Amino acid sequence: MPNLKNPSPPPDGYRGRFAPSPTGPLHAGSLVAALGSWLDARQNQGKWLLRIEDLDTPRCIPGADQEILRQLLACGLSWDEEPTWQSMHQERYQKALERLNELQSAYPCTCSRQTIASALEAQGVAIERNQEIVYPGTCRPEHIKVSEKIANPSTDAAWRLALPPNLSIEFEDRLLGKQYQDLNQAVGDFVLCRRDGVFTYQLAVVVDDAEQRITHVVRGQDLLSNTARQIYLQQVLGFQTPTYLHLPLVLDEHGEKLSKQTLASAIDTGNEQEALKELRQAAKHLGLRNLPDGEAISIAEWLLAATQAWNRKITSS
Ligand code: GLU
Ligand code: ZN
Repeated sequence: MPNLKNPSPPPDGYRGRFAPSPTGPLHAGSLVAALGSWLDARQNQGKWLLRIEDLDTPRCIPGADQEILRQLLACGLSWDEEPTWQSMHQERYQKALERLNELQSAYPCTCSRQTIASALEAQGVAIERNQEIVYPGTCRPEHIKVSEKIANPSTDAAWRLALPPNLSIEFEDRLLGKQYQDLNQAVGDFVLCRRDGVFTYQLAVVVDDAEQRITHVVRGQDLLSNTARQIYLQQVLGFQTPTYLHLPLVLDEHGEKLSKQTLASAIDTGNEQEALKELRQAAKHLGLRNLPDGEAISIAEWLLAATQAWNRKITSS
């Protein structure tokens, strides 16, 4: 007689995603994230969702989203379910922000960059280039966490998350192993919604990963330093934390991450041979070995071999 007392719950099927910002077409770096997350989903017989992260409108390029969709399809990286656009779900992020306010975990902030810089300077903190600026808590109400939610806040303010003291977040990255971040020291009370009303990546990604029931996040290592913030936000909002895997970054000849800022060029998906060449490059970067290298192979066949290679790599690491 099988043990019926503790039937294990049906496993929540694997749900992964690729979440590009439409700031330009896919380049070699973003293709690595697309391929890595796709292979992981396929190898787990999971779903792979496509989400366009287009909230930061000044950085979005009109038409880049459609170009990304075309490039993915040309590479054989097809998605499950309808793609989504964050700009069409503003009410979700607004609701989450209101919830955080009700939980007395958020507060409005009217600091300019300059006020923050002066406050830090007064504390003797040097601001280094390309370093995360740790917010000194200038606007943080004394009463946060012990009093009412903030009613009728000014609309001309950013919103920040109020971090409790001594908040360290630990998590296990599937590739990199144990990770740790002291949020107060590393980032301070971070922004949820900018003064111009744009919800930040941190808030939106957490809301959407939960909304889309994402179980596995596979993305570039440039996002590793955001993960602790996202896990903490999930905890405050009562969401499940997915597992995380951060992929090695593609660097240019100066050792900088490929991005629009470094003028990374779009991958060439003009025909099947070109697309396959780009995929092979991305697979090499992912450390996949023993892939068929002949010309007479279709993208679909190659992707199948790559999925098996990904399986070998993940189970041996
Ligand atoms: N939209 C983010 C980016 O393109 C990625 C978000 C994520 O994968 O968490 O860098
Ligand atoms: Zn402030």
